[in-house]
Parts: sequence; C-alpha cells; structure tokens
Amino acid sequence: MSSIREVLEQREREMLAPQAAKSADSRGRLRPEPEDDVRPAFQHDRDRIIHSKAFRRLKHKTQVFFAPAGDHYRTRLTHTLEVSQIARTIAKVLRLHEELTEAIALGHDLGHTPFGHTGERVLDSLIPGGFNHYEQSLRIVDVLENDGRGLNLTWEVRDGIARHSKGKEGSPVGVDASKRAATLEGQIIRVADLIAYVNHDIDDAVRAGMLKAADLPKAAVEVLGATSSARIARMVKDVVTETQRGGLQGIRMSDDVLRATLAMRSFLFEAVYENDVATGEFKKASGILTGLWEKVRERPDGLLDRRIIDTDGLDTAAKDFLAGMTDRFAVTLYERLFIPKPWIGPISWNQL
Ligand code: MG
Repeated sequence: MSSIREVLEQREREMLAPQAAKSADSRGRLRPEPEDDVRPAFQHDRDRIIHSKAFRRLKHKTQVFFAPAGDHYRTRLTHTLEVSQIARTIAKVLRLHEELTEAIALGHDLGHTPFGHTGERVLDSLIPGGFNHYEQSLRIVDVLENDGRGLNLTWEVRDGIARHSKGKEGSPVGVDASKRAATLEGQIIRVADLIAYVNHDIDDAVRAGMLKAADLPKAAVEVLGATSSARIARMVKDVVTETQRGGLQGIRMSDDVLRATLAMRSFLFEAVYENDVATGEFKKASGILTGLWEKVRERPDGLLDRRIIDTDGLDTAAKDFLAGMTDRFAVTLYERLFIPKPWIGPISWNQL
C-alpha cells in the first residue's frame, strides 16, 4: 500500500507541468534521511523553515528603515510573506511546484543582518572575507539551525536560496544558467523578490515622507501603473505570459516591463536606499555593529558559540552571532556592553 506521501507525489506528476520540479525526483537532502509518511519533501522543507528560530527573528529585522517605530512599515518578515504570495501566484498559473516555491521564498532572506542592507554593508566591511546575506541564509539552514545540526533541506530549496540575490545591478530574469537557480521555482523567487520590494519600499518611503508618488519616474509609471497594486498586477501578469510564451524554458519578463522595473529600482536606490537619511542611519548601525564585533571577539565567553569557535574560528562565530541578531537585540546588547548603568544611591529628601 502506498503512503499518503506517495499518493501526493503521484498527484504532483499528474497535475504539474512537465518542467516543474517534483518532490520524488529531488536530488536529495544534504544528509540522507527517511522521508516523512505524510509530507512530500518540498512541503516538509517549507514546514521546517517556518518552525525555525531564524524565521521568527525576521519579524524584528529591518527591511529599509532602521528599527521602524510605525506599525505599518514592512519588516523582513512581512517582506518575506509578500514575496511568497507573489511567487506562489506565478507558480500556480504556470503549474509549477507551489510548495517548493514557497519554501525558497520563506527561506530566502533568513541570513539578513540587523539594520537591513546597511547592516549587511557594515558586516561586509568588518569581516575578513566579506559577508553576503544569501550565503548566510544557506549557512543558517545547513548548519546553525536546530542546535547546530541544520534543517537538512533538499538540494532544490538550498539552490533557490543561494541564487535568489540580484544586488543593485543584477537582472531578475534572463541571467546566465550558471548564475540562476536550476529550478523554475527558484527563478521565480528572484523575480518575485524584486516585484515585492520595489513596490513595498516605495509605499513605505511615501509613508515615511521621503517620497511623493509624483516623484516616481514618469516613463516607468506609464508602463507599470500608478499604484502599488496596479504595478504588482502588471509585473506578475507579464512574467506569467512571457514565461508561457517561451514554453517554460526559463522565467521571463518582457523588455518593456523589465526596463521599467529596473528604472524603478535605480530610482529607489538613489532616492531611498542611498539618500542622506539612510547615510545617517548607516553611521549609527556602523557604530553599533563595529562596537559589538570588537567586543564579542575580545570577550567571547558567554557570548559566542564555543563549538563554532573550535571548528570555524573566532571570526566565523562572531559573524554568525552578529548576523543573526534582530535590530532590537543588537541595540540592547550594545547598551548592556557599552552604556554604564545609571547609578542611583539611596534616595532621601536631602538629595533634592
Ligand atoms: Mg528579499
């Protein structure tokens, strides 16, 4: 008799496009282990990510603005959920594997530092050998989670996490096969990430008073639409139709929509990510992270994981600790290590 998992694996074969990844055809886990009775491999991976500590910490990590006080700004967690929703919409229409898509989306930013891209730049300059969040995401799922045993995810989820990032200049579609994810599901995340952040960062920047809708580049608005929801709909539809037109050989966008989307991204870099407010925040984040980097390496006992120091060295242990922090954890630890506690002696009438 077949298990529930085997029935579901068979259903994937019947329902999904031939180009879709299939759980039963996975290249396997980092270390072999018996599969679950109920959940096919990619679904199981999605669940492991949701139950991880690094996933819960995303709620207190900055997306764009340093520890935003307003309740309506995106955090790294809500960004992740928006990416997942956009990516699943695309996967569903194309009959690709929704749970694989979701697992990669939910895991793609686990390695982000505190203080957003600012924090990433600071760590990159502090750590010998540099730092980037997608390698750290992979290290979290492979090594750090589950008390040092890792989540033991499938090759396809790990590949998607490792190859989602585009940086400031990279294209979300049409890149060389050696640089993009091997599965179409992984390639969806690369484009869904951009669709999500370009739109929600504009929305947050307007909310913060850094931008007005009228400041957006006119030519791009003409192609994409005047509101976030119109732009997301336009981009998603474009990805779906262009990918179908190409016979699902790769995830694609039309030239017009791609050009307009990249124009929006360049505008955001200038107006929001690299403007004066962001530069001021960079200096603060840099002060905090540099102070912590020096202090935890000088005094590792009780702060750093001894097992990592023994196997990978002090710098790696300090990197894992700092990169894993939420914004508020970093601020609190900094205060505890660097700011003297106010001393209040016995209180009586004659001190007034
Ligand atoms: Mg992202």
